[in-house]
Amino acid sequence: MNERYSRQQLFAPIGKEGQKKIREKHVVLIGAGALGTGNAEALVRAGIGKLTIIDRDYVEWSNLQRQQLYSEADAKERLPKAIAAKRRLEQINSEVEIEAIVGDAGPEELETIAVKQRPDLWIDATDNFDTRLVINDVAYKYNIPWIYGACVGSYGLSCTFIPNRTPCLYCLLETVPQGGLTCDTAGIISPAVQMVVSYQMAEALKMLVGDWSALRGKLVSFDLWTNEYAAIRLDGVKKDDCPTCGRHPSYPFLSYEQRTKTAVLCGRDSVQIRPPARREYDLNEVAELFRRQGLQAEANPYLVSVSLGEKRLVVFRDGRALVHGTKDVQEAKAIYYRYLG
Ligand SMILES: [Zn+2]
Repeated sequence: MNERYSRQQLFAPIGKEGQKKIREKHVVLIGAGALGTGNAEALVRAGIGKLTIIDRDYVEWSNLQRQQLYSEADAKERLPKAIAAKRRLEQINSEVEIEAIVGDAGPEELETIAVKQRPDLWIDATDNFDTRLVINDVAYKYNIPWIYGACVGSYGLSCTFIPNRTPCLYCLLETVPQGGLTCDTAGIISPAVQMVVSYQMAEALKMLVGDWSALRGKLVSFDLWTNEYAAIRLDGVKKDDCPTCGRHPSYPFLSYEQRTKTAVLCGRDSVQIRPPARREYDLNEVAELFRRQGLQAEANPYLVSVSLGEKRLVVFRDGRALVHGTKDVQEAKAIYYRYLG
């Protein structure tokens, strides 16, 4: 008899039946930062069947204050977040299948997961609106619910989007604050993270056990420092001509033009560059290439990092690179091509 989930099963709306359902479900978590690690730990402890984690970054010291799965060793090694999260989660619950993807959550990647794996739910733990609009399109195109979450400073918000039941994020764009919601300027405190995780996880559990009538049906927002709380009803928000959930959807954020090659990373003073053609890089060769140019390269099995004075260039196996120390896309590209040809 497995005691592990006994307290969760005692909770009447879940029960034994609900626990069985949770065990059969597959959740895709987009982002393994603060919200991502909080959601991941809760899902894995709750006994989810399979968890897929997608993240393009690696662990840094500034993450440890709130990204609950990571340790100092992870930051020292610059382990990719998806890998470090998987390692820790497997220690927490070895019964859960965990898939770690070190890479971007772009239209191509998310559509492939939607088609091949048919997950039950997407959880948004990203830090940017571009990715959220891609998740929104994929969710509605393939009829898979998603849960939006965001936080900055002491403020956070969350909303559950269900195809054919609720309006989508695009319909809500005028309601949701986008500007100013960046970790660059305001910093963040961990209770704001935990609060958003709680909102997301409660809705996730309701959907995983099929208790649809218990869903909130509102966009919630709060500020834990100024003690403000708000909930906005979603009915009446839906737009008939919405390109994502309207009568004639075109899913504009999945189009080729949206498959961006560069992105400025939130709060990181960094630019990501994706090579035009996808291929696997031999990281030993990349490290050797740097050394031949007289540079000191540090490598782990997932990435090579090289210091360039004030800047740092990090290359991943899929050819993606992060240029730290700049927000200037052109400058970052120049550095990328200068050292990697
Ligand atoms: Zn819509």
